[in-house]
Amino acid sequence: MKTLDPSSQNTQAFNTQALSLGQAQQRIDQCVQDLLQNTSLRTERIQLEEAFGRTLAQDITSAVHVPAHTNSAMDGFAFRMPQKTNAEPTNMRFKLVGESLAGKPFTKTVAHDECIKIMTGALLPLELDTVAPFESVMMDSLGEPKNELTLGQWIDMDGARFKAGDNRRLAGEDIQKGARVLLQGQRLHAASMGLMASLGIAQVEVQALLKVAIFSTGDELQRPGETLKPGMIFDSNRYTLKGLLQGLGCEVIDLGIAADQPLALKHMLLEAAKVSDVIITSGGVSDGDADHTKALMQDMGEVYFWKIAMRPGRPLAFGKIGNSLLFGLPGNPVAVMVTFLSLVRPALLQMTRRQDDPAFAISTLTALCDEPIKKKPGRTEFQRGMTRRNAHGQLCVRLSGHQGSGILSSMVQADCLIVLEHDRADIQAQETVTLWPLPGLI
Ligand code: AMP
Ligand code: MG
Repeated sequence: MKTLDPSSQNTQAFNTQALSLGQAQQRIDQCVQDLLQNTSLRTERIQLEEAFGRTLAQDITSAVHVPAHTNSAMDGFAFRMPQKTNAEPTNMRFKLVGESLAGKPFTKTVAHDECIKIMTGALLPLELDTVAPFESVMMDSLGEPKNELTLGQWIDMDGARFKAGDNRRLAGEDIQKGARVLLQGQRLHAASMGLMASLGIAQVEVQALLKVAIFSTGDELQRPGETLKPGMIFDSNRYTLKGLLQGLGCEVIDLGIAADQPLALKHMLLEAAKVSDVIITSGGVSDGDADHTKALMQDMGEVYFWKIAMRPGRPLAFGKIGNSLLFGLPGNPVAVMVTFLSLVRPALLQMTRRQDDPAFAISTLTALCDEPIKKKPGRTEFQRGMTRRNAHGQLCVRLSGHQGSGILSSMVQADCLIVLEHDRADIQAQETVTLWPLPGLI
């Protein structure tokens, strides 16, 4: 308890007083920082094919020049540019003696009055330095060679149009052998995947995936596919959570549903702690719930029950069981999403050292509110919103349907969350509000 929540004197204090969302975020942040100081990053070596989206656990240094050999940037004729003298006529003639294709280099020596036909990417023989594109030498108006090319044929060129080095890609021009091209901590996207392949790298050391165990709690829950009995509901939270976690590239361990019984819950938590870095549960943490849930969690580890001044999502359990961080989220489906986005997600990003990765940053927007919204000062409120542009091109937002914390349909309709900050009171129409755009987040 001391290590987890240094600022608290006792758990009791938090049962009587709600934390602001900002305070809760800070405490979680501090706790994750402490945890990271005492744990080293797990890494694994995987095939390049599997590496997309993963985070590098090593620097990538090139063992080769890219391109490996000096080659042609165009289809054309390769030759050695003659030394120019002031009075020299600009006309040049070279005898065609062969060809160099991509993957099939010309292997003989080319004399200074000779040239070869060369294709883009084909190796440029050492003694040659310049490529004249076909179209600049002997193309008809359709871009085809005027004549069939035959070996021994003389090719005429206007020397004034070229200088030594034209259309030549030098070995190592893109990447020098020994250069560091990707850094530890970088996330592998499509371009970095291609870059590693271009260096001939087949395996790569990456951060191990964060293992997150999830389960739902509640005697009223059934699995989709079952026949719903009276008074029961389908468990939706596990599916929402799984989606949110997969979106962050976590390894999800889905443990199913735990009944509202101390023993069932205990087994599930033990199992979860054995296999995961983080445990996320939903339901069973509000005031109305049997005290045994809280007592049990506290018994098994260092777990705090926080009331957070936010809506939806007031109750939250946070702490540690074994070596796993525990987030006990409220049961209401929308509260699950909002607490996940505002409290769990930043912690998971921090644990995977991706908190500064712009790909995961929430790019907040501001918009004019189309309608008044009731808001109590003293808590952060999240509303589901739908945006539009008005005639002046300004971003405007209105509520997306019914806002009850169990209502997922308005979350599906919404394209943003409207974040009404802690100290704000009622919002008047045309006031500016902060938005979290949902695409990319959920
Ligand atoms: P609780 O915090 O356990 O009292 O749950 C609050 C509300 O959320 C209740 O109406 C529950 O039925 C509902 N709920 C809890 N867990 C789930 C779940 N996994 N899927 C859908 N609804 C849930
Ligand atoms: Mg419940």
